[in-house]
Amino acid sequence: MQSGIGAGDRAGTVLRVNDQVDTFSQLAAIVGEGHVLTSDGDLAPYTVDWTGRYRGTGRIVVRPGSTDEVADVVRLCRRSGAAIVPQGGNTGLVGGSVALQGEVVVSTRRLNLIGDVDRSTRQITVGAGVTLGEVRTAAERAGLCYPVDFAARDSATIGGSIATNAGGISVLRYGMTRRHVVGIEAVLGSGDVVSHLGGLIKDNTGFDLAGLLCGSEGTLGIVTAARLQLVPIHTNRTTVLIGFDSVTAAMFAVDRLCSSSDEFDAVEIFFESGARLVNETFDRSLPFDAPCFLLIEMSSNIDRTEWLAGELERVPHVVDVAVALNDAMRTNIWRLREEHTPAINTLGPPLKFDVTVPVGDLPDFSEAVHRSVHEVTSEASTYLFGHAADGNLHVNVTGIDPDTQLARVVEEAVMATVVAFHGSVSAEHGIGSAKKRFLSMSRSSAEIDAMRAIKRALDPDGIMNPNVLFD
Ligand SMILES: Cc1cc2nc3c(=O)[nH]c(=O)nc-3n(C[C@H](O)[C@H](O)[C@H](O)COP(=O)(O)OP(=O)(O)OC[C@H]3O[C@@H](n4cnc5c(N)ncnc54)[C@H](O)[C@@H]3O)c2cc1C
Repeated sequence: MQSGIGAGDRAGTVLRVNDQVDTFSQLAAIVGEGHVLTSDGDLAPYTVDWTGRYRGTGRIVVRPGSTDEVADVVRLCRRSGAAIVPQGGNTGLVGGSVALQGEVVVSTRRLNLIGDVDRSTRQITVGAGVTLGEVRTAAERAGLCYPVDFAARDSATIGGSIATNAGGISVLRYGMTRRHVVGIEAVLGSGDVVSHLGGLIKDNTGFDLAGLLCGSEGTLGIVTAARLQLVPIHTNRTTVLIGFDSVTAAMFAVDRLCSSSDEFDAVEIFFESGARLVNETFDRSLPFDAPCFLLIEMSSNIDRTEWLAGELERVPHVVDVAVALNDAMRTNIWRLREEHTPAINTLGPPLKFDVTVPVGDLPDFSEAVHRSVHEVTSEASTYLFGHAADGNLHVNVTGIDPDTQLARVVEEAVMATVVAFHGSVSAEHGIGSAKKRFLSMSRSSAEIDAMRAIKRALDPDGIMNPNVLFD
């Protein structure tokens, strides 16, 4: 059994816990022996990230079952000088959820309590380990909706989605995760517990800790519970797949449609090469071919299909349109978009970029990014897809070993293109360990210094997720 815990980087040195310390039994005394995992078989699901690119070296996973247990684990690690990587569903795409330098993984999956929906405030309190899918189901049973949604919904947790301030398919209408977190409970890196779950809409009593923890990527503390704002559910949903002869034509349509209604939930974009890959990988059927596709979904209390059809008649350069007439058709259309990430992953760990540019620049950017990769190497394939109305493209480059110098050059070329378009090097996945050398391309040194000062205040010994965010 492993008795010492590898520790994190504090002021540039790697600390080691005294090997004599019986870490296992101390952790077991807090969470119960069955919830301290150390065997290869038990550690396996917690060790490799979703992309397969990042492999942890940590030898201990702890699974606390309550906020008090999380606090005791954090305090023990702090006393021992051991660093911690919080982990939820392990679906993050920037290498932030695995123990790259032997840290202790604190899994939140047992923090899975789901409170009742408060219909008067349209709010719900849930544990950090509850999945997005479970929250969405609980909300739907009460006739409401938790509008943060994306393909990893059945594994990604509320804690992880808060830590990454996740976006997803409905940001256009409902905003990112931060907008829906109206209260939070967390154990800070200091070991202190902060809890503010009242959910008052108006509550200007100092710093907004919930807002601060959103997007903090586990560097400040471990989120243990959250109070979430739900939204009304609509009775009618219209889902269409539209083919265009170019990305310029597609983005013209996005501009026109989004200026005519605020009832669009999702406006997703993908291209011929990605659609074909999904088809071939998962044996799906593409209703028609086109160079560029928009998947558009509206929800309303009246049927919007006819209105949308009328609008589309006035949009030029449409190749074809498929309207989902039932749930099965809707699922098939969504698969074409949502299966891009798993289909690309079958080609080996890709170089993943998740960037935003001003929406109007998306056509030029999509051409420029292809060009910038091609100028470095002709051996790579570049797949683009994403959330069109947010100007958010997922750029996936395959055919290159991500751990080579060539990959670094491609990464720099792509990020330089993003900056040339005044974009952001991370739209919704966060910085993690994958993007930290690019943080200064989107944030000034004064901003990064302010972030570091906040980290020092809440995590004085630097034990919380030391491999992410800051280089
Ligand atoms: C197929 C697929 C599609 C995706 N689509 C989208 C998308 O459209 N939009 C989007 O934004 N993301 C998307 N993602 C990325 C990912 O699902 C999100 O980042 C998600 O929010 C991570 O949640 P998780 O529970 O899996 O967190 P993890 O992967 O376990 O962790 C992610 C980060 O959060 C930290 N963390 C986890 N739990 C806690 C906690 N309780 N307290 C503090 N820190 C914590 C970890 O240390 C790590 O830094 C997608 C992923 C996949 C695989």
